[in-house]
Amino acid sequence: MYPAPFRYHRAATLDDAIGRLVGIGEGARALAGGQTLLVWLKMRFDEPTDLVDIGRIPGLDAIEHDTKGVRIGALATHARIARSPLAKQIPIVGDCANGIADNQVRSRGTIGGSLAAGDPSCDWPVLLTTLDATVHCRGPAGARTLPADGFVQDLYATRLEAGELITGVSFALPGKGSAGAYVGFKRCAPAFPTSSVGVQLTLNGDDCTQARIALGSAALTTIRAQAAEAELSGRTLNAQVIARAAEAAAAAADPVPDQRGSPAFKRSLIDALVKRGVEVARRRARGETVEVSHEYY
Ligand SMILES: Cc1cc2nc3c(=O)[nH]c(=O)nc-3n(C[C@H](O)[C@H](O)[C@H](O)COP(=O)(O)OP(=O)(O)OC[C@H]3O[C@@H](n4cnc5c(N)ncnc54)[C@H](O)[C@@H]3O)c2cc1C
Repeated sequence: MYPAPFRYHRAATLDDAIGRLVGIGEGARALAGGQTLLVWLKMRFDEPTDLVDIGRIPGLDAIEHDTKGVRIGALATHARIARSPLAKQIPIVGDCANGIADNQVRSRGTIGGSLAAGDPSCDWPVLLTTLDATVHCRGPAGARTLPADGFVQDLYATRLEAGELITGVSFALPGKGSAGAYVGFKRCAPAFPTSSVGVQLTLNGDDCTQARIALGSAALTTIRAQAAEAELSGRTLNAQVIARAAEAAAAAADPVPDQRGSPAFKRSLIDALVKRGVEVARRRARGETVEVSHEYY
């Protein structure tokens, strides 16, 4: 199906984009990589009057890191992040970026668009919740920061205000003994994951001092599995402890039945993915190189 007619605007700067979004009002949408928005338009799921293309605003696609932390611009594409040195230095970032869709989608889709879409199947909100990241925004009232955890509030609804744009995300570099893994399960590359899990652990030998676990495609928003984290934090990791955490994560999920599977199937996937994510994070924390990403069935 073709989208309903709309006016196209190309923003030259961030202020220009915000000014246009505010000036046009309710019918305006920001256009970044178009990998979600254009699908919505073609499905007539959304019928904006005006698209404000932010894709060529200079300086919004930088990927930077120093000793203090990491900053990724909203327009950084999944493919650029996957190819960046960051993906090697912090493997959980590479797991996520490489697992998103296929080459075409990864080449156009952006991290900012993935967050702003508010889609519970998108991978970046899950990864950024796992890493306790901060979302940087700018709108008519100026700049502000919000935690990635809870940024997506409901199905396709975020904490962004009218005319507000995501400018980037930031997170701290994992400290000593801290490592993570992002694992997902999907039918094929161009499909969204049926379930996905992010795990970040801080370990002293096999003793877990801190754990963060987030679940994707597990409810109407990203879920932070705090009961599962509590099963790991302060404990020595062994098969029973990990099994209890996986069970708690599956219990925290509230998946909807769809063509990808029943709630029971998705819960069993989450159980398995948490076990796998914890095992990979644990091996990485010991210094092993372990390649993981989404798996297909
Ligand atoms: C076939 C297919 C398979 C896919 N599979 C996956 C997958 O496995 N995992 C996954 O995570 N994603 C997947 N996606 C989605 C893809 O990652 C999108 O790129 C991403 O969700 C949206 O990014 P975008 O830059 O294309 O945003 P757009 O489509 O341009 O915009 C999406 C929404 O965000 C808003 N927006 C965009 N940028 C900003 C900003 N900076 N500030 C405020 N609002 C903004 C837009 O107004 C719009 O509402 C898939 C998409 C397709 C078409």
